[in-house]
Order: sequence, then C-alpha cells, then structure tokens
Amino acid sequence: MSTAFGQSTVLGYPRIGANRELKKAVEAYWAGTVDAEALASTAAGLRAQVWRTLRDARLDAIPSNTFSYYDQMLDTAVAVGAVPTRFSRLGLSALDTYFAMARGVDAEPALELTKWFDTNYHYLVPEIAPDTVFTANPAKALDEYAEARGLGITTRPVFVGPATFLLLAKGVDPFARLDDLVQAYARILAELAHAGVGWVQLDEPAYAADRSPAEIDALGRAYTRLGELTHRPRIFVATYFGDLGDALPALLDTPVDAVGLDLVAGAGNLHRLAAAGPLGGKTIVAGLVDGRNVWRTDLRAAVAAGATVAGLADHVAVSSSCSLLHVPVDLSAETHLDPRLSERLAFARQKVDEIVLLGRALRDGTTALPAPLPATPADWRHDDVRGRPAALRPADRQRGDYPTWAARQQQRLGLPELPTTTIGSFPQTAELRRARAAHRAGSLDDAGYASRIRAEVAQVIRLQERLGLDVLVHGEPERNDMVQYFGEQLDGFAATRHGWVQSYGSRCVRPPIIYGDVSRRAPMTVEWSTYAQSLTSKPVKGMLTGPVTILAWSFVRTDQPLADTADQVALALRDECRDLESAGIRVIQVDEPALRETLPLRRADQQAYLDWAVAAFRLATSGVADDTQIHTHLCYSEFGEVIGAIDALDADVTSIEASRSKMEVLDDLAAIGYGRGVGPGVWDIHSPRVPSRDEVIEALRRAVAAVPARRLWVNPDCGLKTRGYPEVEASLRHLVAAAEEVRGS
Ligand code: GLN
Ligand code: ZN
Repeated sequence: MSTAFGQSTVLGYPRIGANRELKKAVEAYWAGTVDAEALASTAAGLRAQVWRTLRDARLDAIPSNTFSYYDQMLDTAVAVGAVPTRFSRLGLSALDTYFAMARGVDAEPALELTKWFDTNYHYLVPEIAPDTVFTANPAKALDEYAEARGLGITTRPVFVGPATFLLLAKGVDPFARLDDLVQAYARILAELAHAGVGWVQLDEPAYAADRSPAEIDALGRAYTRLGELTHRPRIFVATYFGDLGDALPALLDTPVDAVGLDLVAGAGNLHRLAAAGPLGGKTIVAGLVDGRNVWRTDLRAAVAAGATVAGLADHVAVSSSCSLLHVPVDLSAETHLDPRLSERLAFARQKVDEIVLLGRALRDGTTALPAPLPATPADWRHDDVRGRPAALRPADRQRGDYPTWAARQQQRLGLPELPTTTIGSFPQTAELRRARAAHRAGSLDDAGYASRIRAEVAQVIRLQERLGLDVLVHGEPERNDMVQYFGEQLDGFAATRHGWVQSYGSRCVRPPIIYGDVSRRAPMTVEWSTYAQSLTSKPVKGMLTGPVTILAWSFVRTDQPLADTADQVALALRDECRDLESAGIRVIQVDEPALRETLPLRRADQQAYLDWAVAAFRLATSGVADDTQIHTHLCYSEFGEVIGAIDALDADVTSIEASRSKMEVLDDLAAIGYGRGVGPGVWDIHSPRVPSRDEVIEALRRAVAAVPARRLWVNPDCGLKTRGYPEVEASLRHLVAAAEEVRGS
C-alpha cells in the first residue's frame, strides 16, 4: 500500500451521469418501474465510469464514496447511524429507509432540505437528538472501495467530516455531541484500515464560514483524536468555499496527514499557510482549479500559486477547489457552442485534465503549459452597455417619496384592503411540458406553441377572475425556468444542451453561462403580460426575475466584478420594466429568491455584497413612474443578515414565505421599521395539503396583529408551478374567502 498522497486529485466528481442516468434510474425506482437490483446495477455502472474516466485521465489520487443516491450528507448520516427513529421504526429496507429520509413517506415528512453553503446544491439536514446513538456503518464506503479495487483502481473514500456534519445538523445543540461522534468516526477509520484503505478524505467546509473560537478548538481536538489513532488510514481533511482563517493553524496543529485548501475562493489561505511555520511533513492539497465555475484555468497563474505552496510544504498535490459536483460533466457534449466560447470553457472532465497537467508541471517544472487565451472577442463587448453603468447617477437607483407614491398607486389600482394575489406561476401541467418539448424538438411550430401558451394564459386569467383574486398573474406557462427563460433572450448568455448540475436528489438544473456584456435584444415578457392584461380589467402583474437571482443561478464571468455584471442585467430589466409600463402594466414583480443564498459566508464580506445586490435591484426597478407598483418576492422566512436589505430594496410590496414560521417574520420586519406593503405567505405551497379557510383566517389574524391591515397583502408562500390544479383551486378559494372574512371584521 502506497503512503504518498499522489500528485493530482479531485475532491469529488459529478455522480448524475453524462445524460442524467442516475436521475432516470432513481425516479424509475420511486415510480416502481425498476427494482432495487436494477437501480444498483445502474449505479455501479456510473461509479465504474467515473473511476475509469479519472484513471484514464491519469489522475493519481481517485476519490470514492462520492457517489450518492441522493445526497452526501444523508450518506454520512447513515454511515454514523444518525437515522432518526421516526424513520428506522417504519420497518423499511435500508434503501427505502434512506429514500424515506430524503423524500418523506405518507406518515413521515422528509428531513429538511437546505442550501449547501452559498451554492445551489441542497443537502438534507441531519436530525440529532440528545439520545442519538452514533454507530459505525461504513458498508457503503467499503463496498465502493472494493468495487473500485475490483476494477484495479485504488480509491480514497470520502465522508463529510464530524465537525461540519454536526455544525449543519439540527437538534438540541448537536455540536455538543462532537466527542461521541468522533468515537464513531474512529471506528469507521479502523474498519477502513482493516479493509486496506490507505487514505480517507473528511470534508470540513463549515470552517470557511465564521466560526467561534470554541468551534475552532473543537475542530483541533477532533482531528487530534482521530490523528492519534494507531489503526487508521492516512487522513486528508478537505476544506473548501473560502478562507479558513484561524481554523487553518488549528488544523495544521493536528496529526492529520493532508490538508486541502481552496485557493480559488480562499486566496487568503496562502498567506495563512505562509505564516503557519513548518508543516511537519503534511501534504497540502492545493485547490487550484475552480470547482464552481466553468472557465478554463489560467494554468500559468495556477502553477505559480502551486509553486508558492510547494515552497512552504514538503508535499503538494493539485486538486479542484471543491467537489466538481457543482459543474456540468463534459464540455465535449456541447457541440453547438460558439467555438470561441467553448475554447474558454472547462467542465468536470476538462478540469481533470487541467489538474493532471498542473500536477505534472509542479513536479517536473518543465511540462509545457498552454498559453493563456487571447483577449475576449470584440463582438462580446457592447460598448453601449458598458458605457451605461458609468453614466449612472445615484438618482437612477432612487424612486420618489414612498408615502406619496403609495397613495397614487392606490388611487390608480383601487384595491380593497388585504388585496389577494399569487406569486406568479400556475401549475406546469404535463400537457404544457409536452408542448414545450415538442416545440424544442421542432414537431410543434412557433405559431402552434404560442397559441398553446395563449390558451393557457387565458385559462389562468379566467380561473383567477372566477376565484375573485384582486391582482392577477399570467401564470408563467411560457417559462421552463425563471432564469433560463431570460438567459435565452439576453445577449451575453449561452445555454448548454447537456450542462446539467445536481441541485438536490434527482433534481438537476442547467445554468446558463454569462460570457459577455449583457444586453436585451427585444422585449422579453411584454407580449404575454399584455395579452393577459387584455383579457381582464383587474391589474395583471408583470413578472421578471431580478438581477441577483439571474447571477446566482448562472455561471458568471470572472473577468469583471459581479457588481458590474449585475448592473448590466439590471439595465436590461429596467428597459423591460419601462416597456411593460408603457404597454399598460400597472404592477411589476421582480423576484429575488436568491438574494440570501449568495450572501458571502464571512460576515466581513456581506455588506459589500448587499450593497451591490440592492443597488442592482434598485437600478432594475426605479425607472418606472411612481404610480407603477413594484413588488418583489423572496422565498424564505429567516432573513438573518439580509433583513435590512429588504427595506433597502425599495419595493412597494414584498411577498415572503411565512406560513411554516407562523408569521414570525412580520415581527422581524417590524423591528427594523419596515413600513411598506408585505405579503406574508398564508399557504405553504411546498406541500400538496389544502389549507382550510379557518387556517388561513387564523394566519391572517396573526398577520393583522403585527402589521396594519392597509399594508398587508394576502398570497401563498411561493409560486404554484409544482402544484396540481385541484389543490390550487381549493386553496385559493379558501384564501380569498379568508381575506373577505378578515376584511369585514
Ligand atoms: N414568480 C416565480 C413563480 O411564481 C417565483 C418563483 C420563486 O420564488 N422561486 O414561480
Ligand atoms: Zn418563492
């Protein structure tokens, strides 16, 4: 068994397959059309493919246990025995217990799903009770290790590390259980060593965020304990998503064998490393190739950074900055892209080649590295767009005086107290999705598709009129996705055909790539909104996705500050708002569900982000007249650090999630003196359950107690695209009836 780490590695690789084979297999298993054995064999095939790909690329340290049927946090929960009794008592097979935790069953809701740091990946939140008994169940990792060995490939099993696992778990102070949990990891490590495993990878990304001195001490204690075990594989602690700060010296002080540093998102790690003094034979795994974006690496700059690390450590290996899970699988599938763009891109498969090359170049110092790319093609620049941000004045992000314009809006719209509305989308029926697929495949022509969408809009308007809603929506039937739809219509964006990235479980997204200056070729939504408005005398909301969310759910260019790209998108949206307004649209909603998810992990970086994010939103929305009402929608109820930003957005009405948290968010808003319209969701659309009229009344009464009725709106928590019509009709009927009841009292 070799004890050297190797020259080149990745922290993880996409597991969904080049054509989303895993999604299809898992969903077929859920639907009952394939059995567990067939699912297992698809999974084994996908794993073998990944290992062979990595080996054939000459990567010399290959991870395993990065495959997952659903989520790596869930896998680690199972590996340490953290299966809540509410699932273990169901008496299901191991596989079905696993899926019950991921998706829930009739009697038991799933584990909570939440964002993995500031990425668009979602993990399942482990539930740790004071009496959770941690055990060691490394069967999955051992099986995969043996499976790869069977192919002649030696791998390094990967787990989420104990400190991050508990920091991300929920329960009564889960982190207090660290000592117990480390015991279970110690047993796992012993079993791995027994099976001949040479290296194990434990991921501790939680230390790229602000951590208390106690949490940092605990990290040091945990790895000292694991490092001092006599019977264990070599330990590689991987960190990613940013600077480790004080956690870096703490980790370097422990007897682990290798430490991984993100040198793309955490440039400060290099200085910390330099300040740390002798590294006692540790391998430093330098994350030099960006695992979260799709651009080719500047290999000459990367090798220079690698050489700096080599000057500090005895052993250096090159890796991706984080798991490659966050980028699409293979660029070679994207044959339709402009070659001037594709030569600048690298997906997971291409990044592996970069890593291997960098590893070689660092070792021998003679490997030739390709020259950096020539300057960006001139036609990706739009000087008119580039000139506009520079010409902006503060007044361009400023509307008038809120009380005055609120009165004028009210005069124009003539809405009752507690106006009712929805967040935008109506159910995306199977028929609608079929029409879109047929249109893409060319079997349904443009005219046929447009008339299909128009019919849907007309039906959605009729339904809302029948239900008696006050501010209507067109239902968004023309949108595949709230970002992709705009990306397809804006210059400077490219769409991939196969560039899927796992978002959670079997759900994948295909983020567009922002490669050049963004500009609007033509109005993007005006046709559908005005058509909807022509069918009713009630106001129909124009519906746009905000600049921050468009950036958050795209791959962004790195050759200019995010703030500049956000302003370019904002200017396109500003023009769209003006066009909607001129076409007679009186209310425009600009959704920013991602405002909070891209909040930097470190508090010290947050204000600068919020400043440009808010400024971009205001640029997008402040070009309209005072009597055009601006709404925004945010998809969560725990605002934390962004609560002040909600006020700063300057929207007339903000709709937010509130039903699950029982309207608590209204108190948070009151505490910051928020004085505009607010629509706390009164119906949890994440579940198919229909709320009764009385339940909605109760939610509204709670809301009226916290916010003056003249500022309150009545709406669901979020869009309805994932719901079915029967529950949507019933729920909206209750919502309207409840508003009428509370209005009268
Ligand atoms: N307007 C969008 C919809 O209703 C908002 C979706 C979201 O907040 N994620 O679908
Ligand atoms: Zn939402």
